[in-house]
Amino acid sequence: MCRHLAYVGPPVTVAELVLEPKHGLLHQSYAPIDMRGGGTVNADGFGAGWYPHPGGAALRYRSAAPIWSDQSFPDLARTTRSAAVLAAVRSATTGMPVTVTAAAPFAEGRWLFSHNGVVRGWPHSVAGLAAGLPVVDLLTLDAPTDSALVWALVRHGLRAGRDPADVLVDVTAELERAAPGSRLNLLLTDGAGVWATAWGHALSVRAGDESVLVASEPIDHDPGWQEVPDRHLVVARPGTVTTHAIRTTDETRT
Ligand code: GLN
Repeated sequence: MCRHLAYVGPPVTVAELVLEPKHGLLHQSYAPIDMRGGGTVNADGFGAGWYPHPGGAALRYRSAAPIWSDQSFPDLARTTRSAAVLAAVRSATTGMPVTVTAAAPFAEGRWLFSHNGVVRGWPHSVAGLAAGLPVVDLLTLDAPTDSALVWALVRHGLRAGRDPADVLVDVTAELERAAPGSRLNLLLTDGAGVWATAWGHALSVRAGDESVLVASEPIDHDPGWQEVPDRHLVVARPGTVTTHAIRTTDETRT
């Protein structure tokens, strides 16, 4: 069910993260190791986002085709160098369309976002949550998929200037209350920091003084990889990584 990663650190090429590592996203697209909740390959599209100017807006390349079949992406990935990258390969949830606009990263300004998982009972379970969004956000949803709605909810919080960590925790808790049993691995970067949730799917972090990499599955055999416990939020930038337990509102009340 989708694999994603986000990197912040000294500039690297997109290929160094996605194509070249032994277990980079290219390898994870056809040979993932830890696909909890079904799915065997991630062949329903992919995408990568990067920053041409530090502190500026992100650019991205996305496709509805399997990453291994794209004849143009390798050249683009080898020549695109950035101090931050967010990339994903997609395995569409049953019933959801395979279309380029459903592939992560979702983007606005400097924000890049990916959702690995599924919203249970979609779309009825979360109709109430969606109703809290401006109508124009619903009319311009990237795609008729659960992940696009999750992005619209996250983006709404970010547009209000809220702390990204609070936004991810609140959106995760709200979705879990409306659609219990959902898998909600969210991944967000602004080019300087990475915010990620582990909620039903695998997630690991490789942190150093200079760089940080958060990924569904370790992309190499570096001994520095650490698994993020389930139902936790990671806030990471080079030199500092913190992990916090996420409580749903119901748990907070008891
Ligand atoms: N449910 C989302 C989609 O269909 C994400 C899929 C996934 O994580 N496999 O796009």
